[in-house]
Amino acid sequence: MDKPVLLEVKDLKTYFYSGKHALKAVDSVSFSIREGEVFGLVGESGSGKSITCKSLIGLIHRPGRIAGGSIRYRGQELAGLSEKALTAVRGKEIGMIFQEPMVALNPVLRIGQQITESFKDPGLSGEEKHARAVELLRRVGIPNPEQRMREYPHQFSGGMRQRAVLAIALAGNPQILFADEPTTALDVTVQAQILDLLRDVQQKLGTATVLDLGVVARAADRVAVMYAGRIVEIGTAEEVYYDPRHPYTWALLRALPALARHGEPLYTIPGMPPTLIDPPAGDAFAERNEYALAIDYREAPPMFRITDTHFAATWLLDPRAPKVAPPLGGLRHE
Ligand code: ADP
Ligand code: MG
Repeated sequence: MDKPVLLEVKDLKTYFYSGKHALKAVDSVSFSIREGEVFGLVGESGSGKSITCKSLIGLIHRPGRIAGGSIRYRGQELAGLSEKALTAVRGKEIGMIFQEPMVALNPVLRIGQQITESFKDPGLSGEEKHARAVELLRRVGIPNPEQRMREYPHQFSGGMRQRAVLAIALAGNPQILFADEPTTALDVTVQAQILDLLRDVQQKLGTATVLDLGVVARAADRVAVMYAGRIVEIGTAEEVYYDPRHPYTWALLRALPALARHGEPLYTIPGMPPTLIDPPAGDAFAERNEYALAIDYREAPPMFRITDTHFAATWLLDPRAPKVAPPLGGLRHE
């Protein structure tokens, strides 16, 4: 049975203004996240993943602005809330971890203090806070937590810092966790450990998680593929990885190192994403799409429904379009 919807995003538009121009970083994005779900955003650099995440947690600053749409958290509208009201929701319900753990850590405070200060429960004694912080550090896989509590961020390795940031985020007992490329700055083995950890935490605590997956795409229940500020394909991870329908997703799957098949050279998507200031009419991917149809250059495609959970915005799904087979047909099950 489906869990209740936690976050519902509709027609979200986040623009950066300069003079008369607007850079449409996020342009009419819609999706929803259910309790306990892991939702992954994938797409090339610059496709709007981070700005989508930041919009949802109220971290868009001038000249950027949420220019339209709605963000409902448990039915409460967040778009347009004051910074103060947002901070209250953000601190209590929403946790965040970013690419660079040092940004989230205070270099002059001991790790233990940074965790205990993040507990929201006012009734906790100092001892209880200490015990809970130790427990959290243990949960995120930090050895010798008692001793580590007394250390400063610079005494931690990159991977350990990201674990500490996760402990701080979890200290607030969030219902939803935003992880924006939390592993990009780490080396490959540590990346895998942190992703495993996120998955483990998510399963044990039931925290819904939004992952900005720059490169590594496993671990999500549902995936949205972003291109030029829009979602071009969305579905369960199974649908998007094993039965992709949008030519951009085909190209992306061939280009992601973590998903490349053994022995096949890594593919680079030819061409460049379009400018997000006054983008051309039609399908933004048309210029780079070897399967583009004439209509792609004139009209942007609607979202076509493939299943109740799988949608893609490409004219190739129009019943009148010629049938083309994807170059690899998506990933294959091992
Ligand atoms: P991703 O996370 O997918 O790599 P981003 O969400 O960071 O991409 O960026 C989406 C678009 O918004 C890009 O074109 C980027 O240049 C633009 N952008 C991001 N931050 C700003 C900013 N502070 N001012 C102007 N444009 C920005
Ligand atoms: Mg980003």
